[in-house]
Amino acid sequence: MTLDFAHTAERPLPKRAGVVVIGGGVAGVTAALTLADWGVPVVLCEKGRIAGEQSSRNWGWIRKQGRDLRELPLMIESQKLWRQIDARLETDIGLREGGSTYLAESEAELARHAAWLEQAKDFQIDTRLMTGAEVDAMLGRNGGPFVGALHTPSDIYAEPSRAVPAVAQLAAAAGAEIFEGTAVRSIETAGGRVAQVVTEHGAIACDAVVLAGGVWSRPFLENLGLPLPQLAVQSSAQRTSAAPLISNSTLGANGASVRRRVDGGYTVARSGAARFDIIPAAFRHFLAFTPILKDRWHIMKLRLGSAFFGPLGSHRWQADEVTPFEALRVFDPAPDHQLLDRVMRSARTIFPQLAEAQPVERWGGMIDVMPDEIPVIGEVGKLPGLVLATGLSGHGFGLGPGVGQLAAQLASGRDPVVDPHAFRYERFAQ
Ligand SMILES: Cc1cc2nc3c(=O)[nH]c(=O)nc-3n(C[C@H](O)[C@H](O)[C@H](O)COP(=O)(O)OP(=O)(O)OC[C@H]3O[C@@H](n4cnc5c(N)ncnc54)[C@H](O)[C@@H]3O)c2cc1C
Repeated sequence: MTLDFAHTAERPLPKRAGVVVIGGGVAGVTAALTLADWGVPVVLCEKGRIAGEQSSRNWGWIRKQGRDLRELPLMIESQKLWRQIDARLETDIGLREGGSTYLAESEAELARHAAWLEQAKDFQIDTRLMTGAEVDAMLGRNGGPFVGALHTPSDIYAEPSRAVPAVAQLAAAAGAEIFEGTAVRSIETAGGRVAQVVTEHGAIACDAVVLAGGVWSRPFLENLGLPLPQLAVQSSAQRTSAAPLISNSTLGANGASVRRRVDGGYTVARSGAARFDIIPAAFRHFLAFTPILKDRWHIMKLRLGSAFFGPLGSHRWQADEVTPFEALRVFDPAPDHQLLDRVMRSARTIFPQLAEAQPVERWGGMIDVMPDEIPVIGEVGKLPGLVLATGLSGHGFGLGPGVGQLAAQLASGRDPVVDPHAFRYERFAQ
């Protein structure tokens, strides 16, 4: 039975909860599932629809390979959680263990992969380097541009648009109360700690709040007087018509990255290629982000346009006002067709199996990026009871269940599964 999450007069918000989760992406939904499994009364408020934003628009890679080492313990935990979740589901979310592979076109690129492998060796994961001949055999090529690859056989992937809604159903069956079309406008305090959230449909008293608001987390916190150096970049992706199998592994190359979908087509996009719309917050946090901009200048477009006055440009409102969260229920940016045309051409050159594949759908997505490109997970010292689970920086679909579980632990006073120190909010104050 599929549960309906709409807020209606017949299905009003409860007056009280143990924990209120803000945001129905992978981080929020898995936090709600974890809390519900532990019997904690939990209400999840989503302004639009479950997984309407990043969590259904991503490529679906769930990888340990190439991760920032500070994230690796949480990622290892996250893959375990994805498998456990999959085992509990009746629907097929496309979770497969096909591995992940980063193809290297030069010795310098291969050396960078080797350096990561050397650093990651203490984590005892099954990542290894492949030779050029092994890559050719994997791709069914007889010679080609690749000198080798980084490959992790145990990495997995899933269909994002199926996965997170299915997890939400699981969370609801476990006791979480989930409300779509329910924007949280603000948090109110009593005695210096979280006392209630104010939503567009009324208040919910609670002991703790998990903010898993993706790109909306920064304006939400700024309205509470809490700065967060988080910016939003726009990324684009496409899916193709069915095409012959290249490999069961996800494949990342400079010109194009591909993942075979359960429908027999491919999700095709390009890593790191993004557009960054300049908004007022960009000026406030520009210095913090210059290293990323310098590193990616050749594949990132900067644009000053109407977004400056758009929904992410606003960061002050009262709890009795209509907020930007209600003005834009689902962030659905237009995809960059020029970029995707180029990516499709590259993909056909790299993978001849895609010669006849046609793009059948394209979409954009707004990614929440932190200056150090790892998430913020932890309680805000200045506002006890508020736990952040945000800034997943473009690789949080895979990490999501780990993020959700860690946030749930911190919000309910349980021992954290990994040391959360690297993810603390206060790191930006230093
Ligand atoms: C094109 C693309 C490709 C990607 N590929 C990958 C990949 O292959 N692997 C990977 O690991 N990651 C990938 N990512 C990143 C990944 O999708 C994100 O890191 C992850 O989905 C973030 O999840 P989230 O729950 O933090 O945020 P989101 O999924 O953005 O969810 C946040 C939710 O909070 C809601 N919300 C915000 N404010 C409020 C409020 N005040 N009240 C109520 N609701 C609110 C929003 O409506 C939204 O639904 C990709 C992202 C994109 C865009």
